[in-house]
Amino acid sequence: MNILVTGGTGYIGSHTCVALIAANHDVIIADNLSNSKIETVDRIERITGKRALFYKIDVTDAASVRSLFSSHSIDGVIHFAGLKAISESTRIPLEYYFNNVVSTIVVAGACLEYGVDRFVFSSSATVYGDNEVPFVETMELLSVTNPYGETKVMSEKILTDIAVTNSAWSVALLRYFNPIGAHESGLIGELPGGVPDNLMPYITQVAKGKLDKLRVFGGDYPTVDGTGVRDYIHVMDLAKGHIAALEKLPEGVHVFNLGTGQGTSVLELVQAFEKANNLKIPYEIVERRPGDIAKSYADTKKAGIELGWKAERSILDMCRDAWRFEKSY
Ligand code: NAD
Ligand code: UDP
Repeated sequence: MNILVTGGTGYIGSHTCVALIAANHDVIIADNLSNSKIETVDRIERITGKRALFYKIDVTDAASVRSLFSSHSIDGVIHFAGLKAISESTRIPLEYYFNNVVSTIVVAGACLEYGVDRFVFSSSATVYGDNEVPFVETMELLSVTNPYGETKVMSEKILTDIAVTNSAWSVALLRYFNPIGAHESGLIGELPGGVPDNLMPYITQVAKGKLDKLRVFGGDYPTVDGTGVRDYIHVMDLAKGHIAALEKLPEGVHVFNLGTGQGTSVLELVQAFEKANNLKIPYEIVERRPGDIAKSYADTKKAGIELGWKAERSILDMCRDAWRFEKSY
């Protein structure tokens, strides 16, 4: 298939482009490079031996998106493009609502206009708010506490309503848990700008000596060791989940959790990183981070049964691959 990947030079998008090309699909990337680098296109080519077409466009701009759809025959879209930092979304909510919701409307609108009926959307486990774990796709979406999460809930709703009135549409709403790690080549990975918000890039920068120690946000949660529990998933496993969704999706709208189903605490991840890479990560336990929840992990049965997809890589693989990328970049 000819697949348009919005946000395709970003962290998850670039790994998914590699997986798409490996699965014999042709890839067209649309990215405004607001949080990624053009050299990622070369790196995807170095890994796969095949060059993706690249367009530097902002996908909130309807004219650019329509021009792209009018000049290519597109079979499906994976819509990654968006802003993703929860804390930043509380400081600049309007930018988040505009970028994330308008991009979904514009890209979905072009799909309808040009008869593209396969749409895969990057949603997030954050839509579950503080529900009971494990999070199941059928749960009511309560208590989303930040603008970023709201943009995902709104985009899911918009795509669901479109699918109701367009019976040929197949939509996958993929709720990612915590993607970490990097492609095994060490050529592509996560490139946070400034001081990382997320745990794994913070750990790798401490390992590299760019940051002096990890601050563990909260040691008094009701978890195995008092630190927050998350469902970390290797980004290449996540990438493959997109291929499964694209290739196996029936008509209608379908929600899937993409996680491993295993919870890992902050301190367990630190220990795994130390073991995988034979390094020490200095840390201190500080106050809880506002808005954080104690536990988040997926019920993954639905993706297993309906997509035949399952995450395969271990926490040690994730730690090894994340460090390989950080070291070599
Ligand atoms: P990323 O920032 O690395 O990638 C997003 C890409 O989209 C970037 O290359 C950026 O330049 C591009 N972009 C942003 N706005 C754009 C626009 N208006 N037009 C064109 N390009 C634009 O982020 P990521 O981690 O790869 O996340 C991809 C998607 O997955 C996002 O929608 C994010 O909300 C979602 N998600 C990410 C995580 C995570 O932990 N990384 C978890 C759940 C969901
Ligand atoms: N975390 C931490 N220190 C950091 C960054 C994150 O202790 O510098 C914790 C955070 O409180 C949470 C877990 O690590 O329990 C995962 O946080 P991340 O920001 O990576 O993902 P999310 O909050 O989106 O699940």
